[in-house]
Amino acid sequence: MTSKSFVVLDNIAKRWAGQLGVENISLDIPQGAFVALLGPSGCGKSTTLRLLAGLEMPDEGKIIIDGNDVTGAPASKRNLSMVFQSYALFPHLSVAENVMFGMKVRRVPRAERLEKLRDVMEMTGLTGYEDRKPNALSGGQRQRVALARAIVAGQKLCLMDEPLSNLDAKLRMSVRKDIKKLQRDLGITVVYVTHDQTEAMSMADMVVLMKDGRIQQIGTPDQLYSQPANIFAAEFVGAPPMALIQGRALPGFRDDFSIGVRAEKIDLAETGKGRLKCQIVDCEFLGAETHVGLEHELAVGLTLKLDGLVQKQVGEFVEIGFADKDLHVFDKNGCRVEFKRDEQGVST
Ligand code: ADP
Ligand code: MG
Repeated sequence: MTSKSFVVLDNIAKRWAGQLGVENISLDIPQGAFVALLGPSGCGKSTTLRLLAGLEMPDEGKIIIDGNDVTGAPASKRNLSMVFQSYALFPHLSVAENVMFGMKVRRVPRAERLEKLRDVMEMTGLTGYEDRKPNALSGGQRQRVALARAIVAGQKLCLMDEPLSNLDAKLRMSVRKDIKKLQRDLGITVVYVTHDQTEAMSMADMVVLMKDGRIQQIGTPDQLYSQPANIFAAEFVGAPPMALIQGRALPGFRDDFSIGVRAEKIDLAETGKGRLKCQIVDCEFLGAETHVGLEHELAVGLTLKLDGLVQKQVGEFVEIGFADKDLHVFDKNGCRVEFKRDEQGVST
C-alpha cells in the first residue's frame, strides 16, 4: 500500500454456494482517481462494487478505505455514496426532496440543506426543476438527480454502477462529460462500473478489465489500448477490436502464436508488395473515415481505416501491409509476449 492509496482491495474473493462471483481481486486506488471496472456482463463488476460498498461481504481478503479496515463494516459506516443504473428516486418526492433526503435523515439544518441544494442544482444543470416529480423528467434528468443526491452527500468516494445504460447514445455522451467534470471539480474518487469500453476509455484514469470474476489487466486507457495484456483485452478494448492473425500466415512468426494489429496500423499495399491478400467483405462510411472489412482465412477482425468517403467493391481482392513494430504477439495461452526475433528471424 503506497502512501497515496485511498481504496485498497487486497485479494478479495466472493462465492455463493461454491459458485464464483469474483476472486483474486487486488486494487490500489489513489485519492481523486476515476477508476472504471470494465468487462462483459457477468464478469463480476457489480459484485466488486457491492463488496466495496459493504452490500456484500467477502469470503476472503481485506478492504481498506481512507486508511480504515472496513472489511466487516456495514455500508452505512463506509462513508461513500452510490449511483445506480436504476435511478432509485422516490417517485412521490420532488427533485429537491429527493436530493435533500439524506441530509434530512442526518438532521442537517434547513438553511444548510437549502444552500447545498442550490449549489448542486446549479452544478448538475437542474436549476428550475426543484419542484418536479421524477416522472415529469427525462431519463437524463433523472440520472442527474441521482448524481446530485450522491454529490450532496459530500463523501470523498462515489461508486457508480452502469449509471448511463438507460440513456440513449447522445445523452450518454453528454452526461458522461458532466460526470467527468463534476468528479474533477469536486476532487472525489470514483469507481465506475461499465460494460462499455468507450465509456471506460474516455472517462477513466485507470481501467480495470475483468472477465469471469478475475482481473485481466489494470492500466491507463492508453496502456490497455497499446499494450493489451492478452487476447481478451486486445479484442475487448478499441473499436473496431484488434484484428488477430494466425502466426502461420506471416513468415517469421511462430505457428502457435497469434498476431494482433490495430486497424489504423494497416495500409493498402501495391500488388505483390503486401503481407496478406484479403477479400473485401463490407465497406462502411462513418463520416470522417471509411471502414473496410476484410476477410482472410487465417485472420479475424481485419479492418482497414481509410480517410473520408472511399467506395470499395465488395468481393474485390486487396493486399495489405503493416509494420512489425505495430504488431502485438500473443502466445498459445493468449498472453502478450514481447516481440523479438531470433537469429533465424523467427519471433520468440
Ligand atoms: P456484472 O456486474 O459484471 O455483470 P455480477 O457481478 O453481477 O456481474 O455477477 C458476477 C457473477 O456472480 C455472475 O456469475 C452472477 O451470476 C454471480 N452473482 C452475482 N450476484 C449473485 C448472488 N446474489 N447470488 C449468486 N450469484 C450471484
Ligand atoms: Mg452489473
